[in-house]
Amino acid sequence: PLPVLAVVGRPNVGKSTLVNRILGRREAVVEDKPGVTRDRVSYPSEWSGRRFTLVDTGGWEVDVAGIEARVAEQAEVAIALADAVVFVVDATVGSTDTDEQVVRLLRKSGKPVVLCANKVDGPAGEADAAALWALGLGEPYPVSALHGRGTGDLLDAVLDAL
Ligand code: GDP
Ligand code: MG
Repeated sequence: PLPVLAVVGRPNVGKSTLVNRILGRREAVVEDKPGVTRDRVSYPSEWSGRRFTLVDTGGWEVDVAGIEARVAEQAEVAIALADAVVFVVDATVGSTDTDEQVVRLLRKSGKPVVLCANKVDGPAGEADAAALWALGLGEPYPVSALHGRGTGDLLDAVLDAL
């Protein structure tokens, strides 16, 4: 079976946009309003000649009820089933309480994690990305999933982790 790479993070940070960027086509649903990807969705994918299964997840809100709790549960399942995880943070917002709670869950999982500092659309955002060293997950990779900036370096790091 192919190695599994899960993309997790809060709603609206750009997970589905990143998945589309990696796939090279618009397949995962991107929405301006949070919470569009409710469940886990898997896509066969490839980078630098290596094939893997890419899993998009719904956004993650910790300690919430109803549909949001179900989405969080799906994200936790995705981490459990993954060989490696791309944790996406919105660098323009910085780390939130929810992000920090997800970091704790990621640590507990023991899975290799690559930190994607997303929405760094230009050089001015590099400082926002660097601030995410504070999450303690190692190097934050500055990425613009929207424009493709930095995704090559991110994926090279991912392949090292897989
Ligand atoms: P998800 O909920 O984490 O899957 O986030 P989406 O991929 O649906 O994106 C949420 C919103 O953020 C959409 O309006 C995207 O166009 C926007 N977005 C995603 N990536 C970027 C990025 O790199 N730069 C900017 N400026 N916006 C982005
Ligand atoms: Mg999504």
